[in-house]
This record gives sequence, structure tokens and C-alpha cells, in this order.
Amino acid sequence: MKLSRIFLALLLLGGLAGAARPAQAKLRVVSTLQDFASIAAAVGGDRVETFSLAKGYQDPHFVDAKPSFVLQLSRTDLLIVAGLELEIGYLPPLIDQSRNDKIHPGSPGYLDASVGCEILGRPTGQVTRAMGDVHPYGNPHYWTEPENGRVIARAIAARLSQLDAAGRDTYAKNLAAFEQKLTAKEKEWDAKMAPYAGTKVITFHDSWPNFAKHFKLNIVGHVEPKPGIPPSPTHTLEIINLIQAQKVPVILVEPYFDKKTPDYVAGKTGASVVTLFPSVGGTPAIKDYFALFDTDIDAFLAGVKGKR
Ligand SMILES: [Zn+2]
Repeated sequence: MKLSRIFLALLLLGGLAGAARPAQAKLRVVSTLQDFASIAAAVGGDRVETFSLAKGYQDPHFVDAKPSFVLQLSRTDLLIVAGLELEIGYLPPLIDQSRNDKIHPGSPGYLDASVGCEILGRPTGQVTRAMGDVHPYGNPHYWTEPENGRVIARAIAARLSQLDAAGRDTYAKNLAAFEQKLTAKEKEWDAKMAPYAGTKVITFHDSWPNFAKHFKLNIVGHVEPKPGIPPSPTHTLEIINLIQAQKVPVILVEPYFDKKTPDYVAGKTGASVVTLFPSVGGTPAIKDYFALFDTDIDAFLAGVKGKR
């Protein structure tokens, strides 16, 4: 009787310890963008916990380096970055301060998601400050392209398997499910966008080259005179003339920019202003990588309707 009670107590303790262990053993994945966190959560399942430094409604070039990020990074097993210097303004000092060797560039715990992706807008010739905030390695807003999403998911699965060999089968299974869903959704998105192939658009910042290429939109100009440079009266006038001359139906604006200039231009031209979200979390409805395209495509379609 007494023995069996001790046994029961041990069993309970063992059960509690067993219940607590998976939580402790979870791989801590930190990404700079919620998009990568979303893909990592899909591929990692319950073997990982994810955290994103930038929130989807923030301009990904300018992220406040909170002290809590250092603590996060000090405990990180895998850091996923956009690379191409998107995070150059805030991330390198955070990595240094974390004193976590696992996540230094070149370590297995550092994953540059741009590797293997189609990168557009690689400048030819010399990049100077006069060109604005141009990234010398190409346009870092490459994740709003489903096929790049697939490349990123595969890279994350491979890296998770390397860091956590016991989860290899889980990661392979989750990756297959992610890819299957992506393939199905891509057909749906492509079909929705097909009638609008060739549509001319103005975008606020140069955030959409990959999205536009995939969905066959034709970006003819930007509200920013140069990347990262706020609208100027001269350039705004040029954009108004361009929209009128080329009958551009929509102006796409990222959620973190002031709509004053786009609204002014729209008032002069009749083009519609559409908020397009570059990232998961841009609005609460965008809970994952699939919802990102669902939301953006519906917003685009609503904006372009009756305009061309
Ligand atoms: Zn940019």
C-alpha cells in the first residue's frame, strides 16, 4: 500500500516533469519579420516557439531596438533575417549585445532567408547616397512572392533539422503540408489576379517588385522620389502627370506611411489608394503567410474594380 502510494507519487512527478519538458526543449526561433516567424511556426509546429522583433505594421527598415530584444536574442537557437541589409540599422548591435555565439552570421543558428530566393533590383554599377536608401545587394522586400515563400520554408526546415535532428521527420511532414497548401493557394491567387495582368500601379515605397512580377502588375513609379526619401512637391506633380498620362488606376501604400500625399494624388487623378500590407501582422486579420496574400489580393481587387 505504502509502496504503491510512493510509486503513484513518483508517477505523478514523472508525469509533471514529462509535461514540462517539451516546453523547455522547444527550439527558440527569433525572426526579424513576422513573415518568417509565421513560416517557421508552420514548419516547426510544436517543436519550436517563435518571436518576431519587427511587427508587421512597422516599417521593416526602422525597428526600435528594445532592450528586451537583447534578452530574447540571448536565448535564441535560430535567428532568421531578411538579409540584403534590410536590418542593418538595428540588428548587428543587438546580436553583439546578446553575447549568443549561436546566432552570429555564419553560425548554424543564423539563417539569411534571402539565400536561394529570387532577388530583384540588384543595382548595376556603384551605389551612392545620392540614390537614396538603395540596398547594394538588391531589393530586400522579396518575401511577398509565394515561390520565395516556398524557398524560405525549405531553408527553415533544413536548418531546423540540422539544429534538432530528432525533429527531422516532423519538419519534413510540416514542410510538405505547407508546400501543398501554398501550391493550392497560389492557384487561387493567380486565378484571381489573372484578369488584371499588366495593370499599371504606383507604389509608395519600392516594396513590391517580387509581388508585382509574380502577379504581373506593372510598377510605373513610386510616391517616394527615391527609396526612403519622403514625397516632394516636384516629384508628386510628376506622379500626378504620370498617372494621368498612363491611366494608372491604383496607388499601393504600405500601412506605415502617411496617406496625405497618396490621397492628394488620388484626388487630382481619380486613382484609388489601396493599403497593401507587406507583412504578416500588418493588420490583425493577417495571422499567417497565407492570410497575407488573401488580404492583399482582396484589397487590390477592391481598389482596382471599376477603375480600368
Ligand atoms: Zn525598402
